[in-house]
Amino acid sequence: MTQAIRQTTTQTTTRGLRRHNRSMVLSHLYVEGPASRLELARATGLSAATISNVVTDLLDDGLVAEAGSVDSGGGRPHKLLAIRPGLGHVAGVDIGETCVKVGLFDGALSTVATASYAIGSEEFEPGLVARLVIAGVREVCQQVGVDPHGLLGVGVGVPGAVEPSPSSLVHAPILGWSDVPLAETLRREIHAPLHIDNCARTLGQAEMWRGAGRGSGQAVVALLGAGLGAALTTGSNPFHGASNMASEWGHTVIVVRGQPCRCGSRGCLEAYVGAEAILADYRSRRSSTPLVATDLEGGLAELVARSRDGGAARDALDDAAEYLGVGIANLVNVLSPERVILSGWAGALLAPEILPAVRDAARRHALPHAYAKVKIEPGQLGRDAVALGAATLPIADFLAAGGSPRAISAC
Ligand SMILES: [Zn+2]
Repeated sequence: MTQAIRQTTTQTTTRGLRRHNRSMVLSHLYVEGPASRLELARATGLSAATISNVVTDLLDDGLVAEAGSVDSGGGRPHKLLAIRPGLGHVAGVDIGETCVKVGLFDGALSTVATASYAIGSEEFEPGLVARLVIAGVREVCQQVGVDPHGLLGVGVGVPGAVEPSPSSLVHAPILGWSDVPLAETLRREIHAPLHIDNCARTLGQAEMWRGAGRGSGQAVVALLGAGLGAALTTGSNPFHGASNMASEWGHTVIVVRGQPCRCGSRGCLEAYVGAEAILADYRSRRSSTPLVATDLEGGLAELVARSRDGGAARDALDDAAEYLGVGIANLVNVLSPERVILSGWAGALLAPEILPAVRDAARRHALPHAYAKVKIEPGQLGRDAVALGAATLPIADFLAAGGSPRAISAC
């Protein structure tokens, strides 16, 4: 009996070690791109013999392919290895405060198809939002003839906290959601592996893998939208705080007894630099004139355009930049990240206009030694980055599992 248990334990340990080694090699090739066996050994710390075995294993499984060779400096050229193209498709969903966006991506995270559904502020009923998500996943698959059941997975980013449990209960006060069993509802119709996480964290992973965070050991990725979130991301793994609310930077207070915030508190950073707050600030200024656009994105784009002529629009953006710089200085003093990345749809609109002023305010308010180590950069993934970030969830799961047979059958 004891011997049987010991044998089972040894098998489990061996299987776990094999999966871990495969995961390290696959993750490096996925995030960093093609590499030789020698480079893989250096990057992962695995021995040359182990790398050789793992690579043979992955080549046999069709997960990795040879991709040319590089000069070895005199000897035989080193063959390069890469993730095999055509691993399958993943869907990424951004449940935002103004719309539900769905993207279909190939295994390399290139966009294949998109769908978008506008939602009004009164339409956040969980059942309705779930139906839009399901319809969107079906629509993007239909656009390019992909079987939704064969997807490598579906990732969903939500503007709130997600309990790491099988039912993935969502707490999103901004949507009026408390203990919403979103995964349970979606699983009735979506049969591919499903992953749900906070939208700032999924965005953070996308910027680290494919955007402005590449090559950085530790970055804070700020999601500027109607509200404001942030994810502290280390390497390719988002940091999950003990309370799973690591991304609620927008609700740190920067003005005592300040502006009321949607969360119920006052003086939160979001109440000064969220897109809604910036537009409200502009409208409250005496010399402002009504905006033509009626939607949030259109309104902010119009405000940014007007700011180039100075006046109330410029003053509103200057004030937002000052508050954002103070918020970033607080982050820098507490976390000392290597980079702070301004991402999200509002970040994409605002960064070209306010980045120098944000950097200046952060420099004036952060401790000099901490500020000297940080770079404040615009995001590189544009306005649909949250859907892309959500799509990284099933890919991350696939890499962590060391690749899975499901990926091969989904080609
Ligand atoms: Zn708040």
